[in-house]
Amino acid sequence: MTRAISAIFELLFSPACAGCQTHDDITDGFCPECSRAMLAMVSRPACPRCGSILPPSLPQAREDCPGCPSVMPRFERVIRVGPYAGPLKAAIRNAKYYGTTSTLLSGLLSQAIAAQVRADEFDLILPVPMFWLRRLMRGQNFPVAVAAHVSRKLGWPVGHELMRVRNTPPQVHLSATRRQANVRGAFAVRDKKSLQAARVLLIDDVVTTGATANEAARVLLAAGAAHVSLAVIAKAEPPKAYEHKDES
Ligand SMILES: [Zn+2]
Ligand SMILES: [Zn+2]
Repeated sequence: MTRAISAIFELLFSPACAGCQTHDDITDGFCPECSRAMLAMVSRPACPRCGSILPPSLPQAREDCPGCPSVMPRFERVIRVGPYAGPLKAAIRNAKYYGTTSTLLSGLLSQAIAAQVRADEFDLILPVPMFWLRRLMRGQNFPVAVAAHVSRKLGWPVGHELMRVRNTPPQVHLSATRRQANVRGAFAVRDKKSLQAARVLLIDDVVTTGATANEAARVLLAAGAAHVSLAVIAKAEPPKAYEHKDES
């Protein structure tokens, strides 16, 4: 085999960096540069209520977190790998749209959960369901894949109690209040009996304002769940330009 062909072979079959797609020196899914960026992102302290990075001046002052919504969501806490930025954002996009890097990200979330949660803290994992039409168009369901992986690693069973009964228009350009109204009635519960006093860990890919997870938690608590927490790969900052449009 000529050198050129073997170089092409190497490129095709060596793993690419989940962040930047380079093939050089990949360890645990990322190139050295993306690994450094990931480490810098995930090592900054985050608010346990909303998942936002806490400013250096408030490393412990959870009550004063500037990222927390004014009305606290119905879920108890957010466990996440890191902020929706840099190599983590790139890896999530690759997982959602091309199906690559999903095992790597699921592994990172399993590690984050195991580091922050007791083994007996939850009874049930529920992926935040997509509307069937969106699932069909996407061809895959990333939160379901993540939930299955977390279940294998941490032992809590994946339930199917939560259903998406209504499609919701994309929320990107909506304010926090509008998002809440937008998702109202989006979920229903399939089997109330198995939710009685259940301690639920909801799984999704990205959380922004938390409106979707909050609506899911509302429905689960109304159906008898004891408490609901949220585990996501990444926390995205809400689009502030839209949030404050009315005030400017
Ligand atoms: Zn990279
Ligand atoms: Zn917060």
